[in-house]
Amino acid sequence: MRLYNTMSLNVEEFVPIEAGRVKIYTCGPTVYNYAHIGNLRTYVSEDILVRAFRFLGYEVSRAMNITDVGHLESDADEGEDKMLKGARRERKTVWDIADYYTEAFFRDMAKLNLETPDIVMRATDQIEDYIEFISVLEEKGYAYRAGGNVYYDVSKFPRYTELSRMPLENLQHGTRGDVELDENKRNPYDFALWFTKSKFDEQEMKWDSPFGRGYPGWHLECSVIALKALGERLDIHCGGVDHISTHHTNEIAQTESFTGQKWVNYWWHAEFLLTDDGKMSKSKGEFLSLSRLEELGYDPMVYKYFLLGSHYRRQLAFSDEGMDTAKTAYHKLKERTLALAEPIETTAYIDEFKAALADDLNTANALTLIYTVLKDDKLSSGEKRYIIEQMETVLGLDLFVEPEIDVDTAKIERLIAERNQAKQAKNWAEADRLRDELQAMGISLMDSKEGTTWKLN
Ligand code: AMP
Ligand code: ZN
Repeated sequence: MRLYNTMSLNVEEFVPIEAGRVKIYTCGPTVYNYAHIGNLRTYVSEDILVRAFRFLGYEVSRAMNITDVGHLESDADEGEDKMLKGARRERKTVWDIADYYTEAFFRDMAKLNLETPDIVMRATDQIEDYIEFISVLEEKGYAYRAGGNVYYDVSKFPRYTELSRMPLENLQHGTRGDVELDENKRNPYDFALWFTKSKFDEQEMKWDSPFGRGYPGWHLECSVIALKALGERLDIHCGGVDHISTHHTNEIAQTESFTGQKWVNYWWHAEFLLTDDGKMSKSKGEFLSLSRLEELGYDPMVYKYFLLGSHYRRQLAFSDEGMDTAKTAYHKLKERTLALAEPIETTAYIDEFKAALADDLNTANALTLIYTVLKDDKLSSGEKRYIIEQMETVLGLDLFVEPEIDVDTAKIERLIAERNQAKQAKNWAEADRLRDELQAMGISLMDSKEGTTWKLN
């Protein structure tokens, strides 16, 4: 496996800490709202990473957190608490919000055929461990108390900007015009480990601690959960590119200060999905969720097919045209795969498929390979099925899942009859409108001398 490492800015040969095993940590969702389709792009890529390793013969352990506390609107310590915002918006408790959107997240994962990570931990379930972790940092001189809060002292960690390669002055901190500088911080780049006093008194989630009754800072949970779940060293740490400069940078500083050794060997980052107006963001209100895509007539698998067509390290622009092209291509492909005969074992193309995955997860090439297999005259239909089924264990595109027939035959027949009447009355506009209405239901019409027949797209 060759993977790009943000720490070295190079594609590197992957060498595991322990032969044959991979320990992967992936930052999880902040459960104050539905995931947007940009978030889901990152989870799709991470799932491919895990499954690719398994396909290549590795044993994988993947851990993920569920952020249900402490994530403020800005990844630095500014802005309102995201969970609180969700609770206020829906007039529910933060706990109800967390439960509801955690479930919604896993429903989206399932719709996209994404495996649940081997270990999933909720941030609010680790309070004792945060307290322990912060106490050690305090003892070691990396943390200090000020104004009721506990902060990590960035000046104690000389390699602080190693991952981001950004001069400290460029990092996010409380000197942007719209937010006040946190007077408690010794250096503006220091970050909170524990809050007892924030600007938002309504915070419902609070716990007793030696530092006072309060709640943990956001970055802490990933370090503590990764340590608990996977031990002091990780092969790979994943997340979206937005996490490089603050969140992952802070994770490294506090974890390595705690353990006294190098933590992560490969930093893996997924690029953003962009919309016409730029970055996808929940704070703007309207955003695209997977359910919204379904309402717009796109199967989650169509979205996944759209994503896999480009590399995870490239920005990808979401567009109706792109999705429509993917929709047509996906359904045509599925027609072909569903028509294949019973599987017949073969080793053909498996090496090529592994090579595509091992090439920093080249999913676009992996997809192309499916078409190459389908076109290959030297293979029997059953062999083709066998090969593509193997590929499906990584890609998970439901290529062999019969579409659910959920058609209202009576309605279809009625619309066809109405269309025939319209045609007889030479009302072509109405006839076309009815055809379009059926098309939108996924029904194609075939007219012949014998009359009109229909089929599911
Ligand atoms: P959050 O729920 O905000 O903590 O984000 C969940 C994951 O989605 C993180 O790994 C982010 O880096 C990632 N992410 C956020 N926005 C996008 C986007 N537009 N495209 C791809 N990934 C994103
Ligand atoms: Zn994280």
